[in-house]
Amino acid sequence: MTRNLTGKCFCGAVHYEVADEFAYAANCHCSNCRRTTGSAFKPFAGIERGKFRLTAGDDRLLIFGDKSGHDAHCGRCGSLLYSLVRDGAYVHVAMGTLVDDPSIRPTAHIFVGSKAKWFTIADDLPQYDGHVPG
Ligand SMILES: [Zn+2]
Ligand SMILES: [Zn+2]
Repeated sequence: MTRNLTGKCFCGAVHYEVADEFAYAANCHCSNCRRTTGSAFKPFAGIERGKFRLTAGDDRLLIFGDKSGHDAHCGRCGSLLYSLVRDGAYVHVAMGTLVDDPSIRPTAHIFVGSKAKWFTIADDLPQYDGHVPG
């Protein structure tokens, strides 16, 4: 049996369920992730789209982007919940919206080339200027 994780936005209007089978996870320091979250970086975990589903509030979503790639926010409180990426094949869950603890942990810092100068990375995870190479 697959273990399922739940997640939700700040106000609770949007809930989701995702299999605890993330393929990868990282902390992204790119300027887009910094702006969409208002944070120094965005911890996200990637999974095949079919293993993620909304369980409440799918009519409350604010979608920024198009059918093949977008950010999905709660239309009421604005939380960034997930991004649809890789031509719609994968979902990048914003890990800060998870309620349950996933098995995976972020394994790298990516897009450190555009990191905020005011933030210092204080762990030993590998750092890459862009995507993880290979
Ligand atoms: Zn909300
Ligand atoms: Zn990013």
